[in-house]
Amino acid sequence: MNDHVKENLAQIEARIQAACDRSGRDRKDVLLIAVSKTKPAAMIREAIEAGIRDFGENKVQELCEKYEEIHGTDENGNEIHPPMNWHLIGHLQRNKVKYIVDKACLIHSVDSMRLAEEIQKEAVKKDCQVNVLVEVNIGEEETKSGVAKEEAAQLVKEISALDRVHIKGLMAIAPPADDPEESRIYFRQMARLREEIRQMELPGVEMKELSMGMTGDFEVAIEEGATMIRVGTAIFGGRVYIMERG
Ligand SMILES: *Cc1c(COP(=O)(O)O)cnc(C)c1O
Repeated sequence: MNDHVKENLAQIEARIQAACDRSGRDRKDVLLIAVSKTKPAAMIREAIEAGIRDFGENKVQELCEKYEEIHGTDENGNEIHPPMNWHLIGHLQRNKVKYIVDKACLIHSVDSMRLAEEIQKEAVKKDCQVNVLVEVNIGEEETKSGVAKEEAAQLVKEISALDRVHIKGLMAIAPPADDPEESRIYFRQMARLREEIRQMELPGVEMKELSMGMTGDFEVAIEEGATMIRVGTAIFGGRVYIMERG
């Protein structure tokens, strides 16, 4: 079991590079976020050793617990700063914002003005700046969070008025599919939407990032312009959820 993470990462790296080559993209323009949800801190450390710097968690509590574990203090009481960034990729409830604003380098899942206002409020309290992506429900799925694509531009515009909340781009999860090619149309729509919003030239809004693509479809996502891919299973293995839905 020991070198699995490292070996998996080497294989994924080759696939990322190949997808970049196929689509004429620079490998440096695609960030691999290792999704470590349900996996122990020890596996995060393994991935750090293998060179990964960005990690995604979908639950605030789990992110905070692992944060404590990994950013603990050494025997002299000094805080440890491992070379890594935390991304919150899952749905965020307003009452949990206060735990996360100063820990996540990027919140991928902002989908309402009320949530953005809560982030603004907590960022003022903690005197920090918060980077976010606006999550789009690109498959128009009832069960998924995210703003409707027709409303995304308006939401970005409203959020841009908040001086502590910095929009870096868009995020989406394609609907479940057996064939990664089925995700292509959604990823393409996301790239088009980013371009439309970019052309609005909203002050303080950077429409650079497109967070899309997971284990099943990250290569297609890269071909369609993803700048961040969120890969869990292919790095850390399958997840087992016990006594839990979702
Ligand atoms: C779990 C999760 C992922 C990673 O999924 P895999 O299929 O394991 O790669 C990516 N994005 C989000 C939002 C997730 O919740």
